[in-house]
Amino acid sequence: MIDNNCLFCKIIKGEIPSAKVYEDGEMLVFKDIQPKAKVHLLAIPKDHFKLLSDADGARVGVLGRMLEKIPEIAAENGCENGYRLIINQGEAAGQTVFHLHMHILGGQELDW
Ligand code: 5GP
Ligand code: ZN
Repeated sequence: MIDNNCLFCKIIKGEIPSAKVYEDGEMLVFKDIQPKAKVHLLAIPKDHFKLLSDADGARVGVLGRMLEKIPEIAAENGCENGYRLIINQGEAAGQTVFHLHMHILGGQELDW
């Protein structure tokens, strides 16, 4: 499903431009607009849902395939020495966009 009011759904539709690094039928990976590390990518499912607690079996399947693909995407984008995956869940964790996303952070030593 697409949520027409959602920023990341607008990126999926191409209504808002983004620097895409990978796309297939069920996921999109693009550069974060305010990078918090030398490499900062966002991986999102094309199906709009807000939180892991909204994930049913099919959605967990997509998340699993994203995790399967991310090592290759990270390595191809400057994270060959390692990277960090973060999924913020809820406002207290700093989540600002309520379309589930995985932060891929790397390209440098992460001493935090
Ligand atoms: P959150 O804080 O929800 O876990 O992460 C949302 C991320 O989306 C932030 O790191 C923020 O910089 C990024 N972001 C917000 N708006 C845009 C945008 O319009 N384009 C891109 N590429 N990233 C965005
Ligand atoms: Zn969305």
